[in-house]
Amino acid sequence: MENSRKSGLDCPPHPYQIFTWLYNFASIFVFYFFIVPSQPYLIQILMSSLFGLSQLLLLFYAFLLTKSNPTDPILYKKKKINLDETYITFCSLCYSEVSPDSKHCMKCNRCVHKFDHHCKFVNNCIGKSNYNLFLKTAILMEMVETIFLVCCTYTIYNWSADLNGLKEKINQDYGENADVVLIAICSAFEFLTIAILFANGYLLLFHIWLIKHKMTTYDFISKNKPKSSSMDLTSITDSFGAKVTPTVLIGLPQFTVNK
Ligand SMILES: [Zn+2]
Ligand SMILES: [Zn+2]
Repeated sequence: MENSRKSGLDCPPHPYQIFTWLYNFASIFVFYFFIVPSQPYLIQILMSSLFGLSQLLLLFYAFLLTKSNPTDPILYKKKKINLDETYITFCSLCYSEVSPDSKHCMKCNRCVHKFDHHCKFVNNCIGKSNYNLFLKTAILMEMVETIFLVCCTYTIYNWSADLNGLKEKINQDYGENADVVLIAICSAFEFLTIAILFANGYLLLFHIWLIKHKMTTYDFISKNKPKSSSMDLTSITDSFGAKVTPTVLIGLPQFTVNK
């Protein structure tokens, strides 16, 4: 268990993790400093409360997911291997007994109970103990991005159709030609938000399908890997880039492999 990661808060952070937090805080800044002030008063209240509430929930669940520790709890019990048992599930990398359905994540160097995948965006493994948190975070992400996209599109539409005296209002508040800068920023965030909405939506639909078929991402990838004889089960790379290794069943005390 030495040199193993416990949660997504452990250093070093993954570049995707840094990008996600930076993007999120940048979108909050754009929303409250550019999009909201350029709306009529009632719409300001509606936009602020909807976006604010869903953002708070998203930040809360994303933090809980990053902080969670999905390591197989057996590894903390320091349970001694009972040599009388005919077969136990043993991880040669953790050098410990583990749950039969645990997998060893090579990025975190620990066994994870009901391993699903290693998520680079929170830099943590997703397993049995934090799968619900992962789903809640992904659903909230989709909600936040949808609200942001609608508000952003509404602002761009109002500007291009010159409704509600938006161009004049922005230029009065921020200076000459400020409306062009604001719309350029909104458009850049709009494209990024559409890309995130599609990617996250696809991920959510995939997990709904997995739940329906009682599978994990790991099961899906191992099942769909070409059945060539050269398949190296000790280094399966999932679609999220994590290398995992199946835990080996070792018959004790003979130490023969039982697959
Ligand atoms: Zn292990
Ligand atoms: Zn991991």
